Amino acid sequence: MRRENPRTQHAPDAAAGADRRALVARLREIVGDRHVLVDPADVVVYEQDGSILQVLPEVVVLPASTAEVAAVVRAAREADVPIVPRGSGTGLAGGAVPAEGGVVVSLARMTRVREVNLRHRIVVAEAGVINLDVTRAVASGGYFYAPDPSSQAACSIGGNVANNSGGPHTLAYGVTTNHVLGLEVVLGDGTITWLGGRAVDVPGYDLTGVFVGSEGTLGIVTAAALRLMRTREAVRTLLAVFDRMDDATDVVVRITGAGIVPAALEMMDRTTIEAVETGAPVGYPRDAEAVLLVEVEGVREYAERAAELARQICTRGGAREVRVARDEAERQRLWKGRKGAFGALGALAPNYYVQDGVVPRSRLPQIMREIGEIGRRYGLRIANVFHAGDGNLHPNLLFDMRVPGQLDRVIAAGADILRACVAAGGSITGEHGIGLEKKAYMDLLFSPADLDAMARVRRAFDPDGRFNPAKVFPTPITCAEMRRAPATLPAGLWI
Ligand SMILES: Cc1cc2nc3c(=O)[nH]c(=O)nc-3n(C[C@H](O)[C@H](O)[C@H](O)COP(=O)(O)OP(=O)(O)OC[C@H]3O[C@@H](n4cnc5c(N)ncnc54)[C@H](O)[C@@H]3O)c2cc1C
Repeated sequence: MRRENPRTQHAPDAAAGADRRALVARLREIVGDRHVLVDPADVVVYEQDGSILQVLPEVVVLPASTAEVAAVVRAAREADVPIVPRGSGTGLAGGAVPAEGGVVVSLARMTRVREVNLRHRIVVAEAGVINLDVTRAVASGGYFYAPDPSSQAACSIGGNVANNSGGPHTLAYGVTTNHVLGLEVVLGDGTITWLGGRAVDVPGYDLTGVFVGSEGTLGIVTAAALRLMRTREAVRTLLAVFDRMDDATDVVVRITGAGIVPAALEMMDRTTIEAVETGAPVGYPRDAEAVLLVEVEGVREYAERAAELARQICTRGGAREVRVARDEAERQRLWKGRKGAFGALGALAPNYYVQDGVVPRSRLPQIMREIGEIGRRYGLRIANVFHAGDGNLHPNLLFDMRVPGQLDRVIAAGADILRACVAAGGSITGEHGIGLEKKAYMDLLFSPADLDAMARVRRAFDPDGRFNPAKVFPTPITCAEMRRAPATLPAGLWI
């Protein structure tokens, strides 16, 4: 017998009794029996994404084509139940969690790369294609797909579009929206349409831009036309070691101010270094206050000059040591600690809560001090590992669920961090989205009039509010939702 997970909430029964049976029967006709899941033992893997929130779905359906997605949407509409699109479930804000029940539509079977056109530098990929598989499909021709969330080995193109995902290389190349030319979508009445096209600009409103980052609230993305980039000739990677966090964060501003646009500028603080060196050591100095990983790439001459300039700026900015990778193996070693950092935090505490905020780069020294103060105020250790070049922070609040009151302090400290980010001119998410987790904080940034304008855009696409209800807009999040234990990281992924 399956043991009930004490953290699991059940979705409200949006499709009760006979109606639910009729809906399930209709879904089975559309996609085949095997691809409609209702048994709790089958749907349990869809109760959670990578966040701390869990709700057991009522029905999960796995269509294999855009026509099937459209038919599923029409069936859900006839049964008057919510629709929750789902990619790979790696989201960190509860976006794919079926908070109000209904039908979870998994795009996991839509994994066809429909077209590769290297001449026009375009790939058309279905929503369920894994991010890294786009680059794999074109790498031998000398191209890559630039948006590279740290979850790129698992997350889907549809999820990337919905969350407008970024990654370590966002600093140089931008986020998902800068690489999506057009989208095939299914709207609330089951209409299939294309937004945008294959050119970098199309006449009329930028409806593709509206859809990117809409977190599954406007419709279902079934395919995307994506822009490719040429593989760079050379890449150089440096690790700078600092005794003062202030120096490390200052250097970030100096490097970008010098006109270098690094492909990546990643920071780890002392607590993160301690975790890495305790878990799977890579040789970061344990007594350093911070290490900064700098990567530059381009034609060989540029990469070499930019690396040398970055080295000089780090040294002049107070780095006590700058290591420059001599070959690919050494480069991989330097990255290994960064990539394993989140997993390694388990060596320091039984639980951690990944926060996600953003500030202007120039406010990094100030915000790092404030995060330190918040940690002290709540008696919590906070490990910082972040995309410093974008001002994109991931403070990890370390704690132990079993200690009464600790989770309350973690939630309160996390909220204070977001308030500090907003006060510093930043925002409540750098890349993970709002989902369920952060909707209660939307009014830190937006007035009622702002939110109403957004709600009207939403209604223009989805008048019934059927797609992903309970997400993004600030209805209060329930205590039960917030009191979930943090998830552990899937193996092989990094943030
Ligand atoms: C280890 C780890 C590292 C991460 N690193 C990064 C990072 O560097 N940068 C970053 O930005 N994020 C990162 N993330 C977060 C996450 O991977 C991204 O948000 C990713 O884009 C989610 O994709 P997914 O396919 O897993 O989507 P899901 O989690 O399944 O869904 C995410 C949201 O998108 C909606 N959605 C999914 N598919 C569709 C679709 N086809 N049509 C419409 N809506 C849809 C869902 O309803 C939900 O709201 C990380 C997560 C983990 C676990």
